[in-house]
Amino acid sequence: MTGQSRPAPRPNIGLIPPYVAGRPPTVRPGMTSYKLSSNENPYPPLPGVVEAVQEAVAQMNRYPDMGSAALYAALAETCRVPVEDLSVATGSVALIYQLVQAFCEPGDEVVFAWRSFEAYPIAVTAAAATAVRVPVLPDGRHDLPAMAAAITDRTRVVLVCTPNNPTGPAVSQTELDEFLAAVPPHVLVVVDEAYLEFVRMADPVDGLATYRRHQNVVLTRTFSKAYGLAGFRVGYAVAPAPLAAALRAVSLPFGVSSVAQAAAIASLERREELLERVDALVAERTRVATGLRERGWDVPQAQGNFVWFELGERTADFAAASEELGIMVRPFAGEGARVSIGETEANDRLLRLAEGFVR
Ligand SMILES: *Cc1c(COP(=O)(O)O)cnc(C)c1O
Repeated sequence: MTGQSRPAPRPNIGLIPPYVAGRPPTVRPGMTSYKLSSNENPYPPLPGVVEAVQEAVAQMNRYPDMGSAALYAALAETCRVPVEDLSVATGSVALIYQLVQAFCEPGDEVVFAWRSFEAYPIAVTAAAATAVRVPVLPDGRHDLPAMAAAITDRTRVVLVCTPNNPTGPAVSQTELDEFLAAVPPHVLVVVDEAYLEFVRMADPVDGLATYRRHQNVVLTRTFSKAYGLAGFRVGYAVAPAPLAAALRAVSLPFGVSSVAQAAAIASLERREELLERVDALVAERTRVATGLRERGWDVPQAQGNFVWFELGERTADFAAASEELGIMVRPFAGEGARVSIGETEANDRLLRLAEGFVR
């Protein structure tokens, strides 16, 4: 041993790209600022959800129900799937980590579109697996034939993000079926449905019908977006029982807190009311996308709660100009900016910005 020896993390740890969180709004005197940088739900929690959480708060000296039994039962009923086909986790980001951990040896390949959700390369690199990025098409859609062609002997997992964060388009059921027919049955296909509730398109993906037809399909879903519980960290996977069991096996014991379980259950009970809010956000998304196109912006099809501006070198200027107007967007340096659909006033400001901004 040399005298200079000290504990060293595995070499892949130094290669993990940082997660860049959406910035909170800059406080400006006399001006309300809005955060459109993290695809959050702008609506405050529903009253009954807050009360359920308050009840759980009074029990904070106790560990949560480790099996999240009531939450599993509520999800099984809502999705009409067996409990054995479910795995709950601290957000669907955690599920991506668990999937890679459970299915990849170091050096195994995980294929995903790029640009897509920034947590993917982080989770893949953290597990010492190899990220294989397949560029999205010029209109922001997944290039599924190219993703199928990128599968090698080392590929264990393919991540399909639909709608794609940050570009916006969703894949159709026909496209997904063609893709699944081209993927070998031992390769896991993860359909990340974080924005499922916002999809309004012809031939939308029916995730549950798809997982029922395939032994290698995992759906990941979240309470963070449509259900407005981003601060509580709850997501779940739907998968054939052996795959769901593997995800549960590598989950963090007691990961989903008691308040998070209570909030998720209360939200499922108020699903109809929450989905009405989603309808209102979708109407705002249509208003924004139409307004942008009227102003000459060729934005990609927006199927989530956000729109994508391809800006190249003008991205930083766009972010600075939006900050001036009291809206925070999520810039991806040199590529573009993702802007969440938020409060009506915030969306109005985005349209005003788009009107005046010189590309
Ligand atoms: C927001 C988002 C998630 C959800 O993350 P949580 O960990 O559940 O908050 C998952 N996938 C994509 C593509 C997302 O944009």
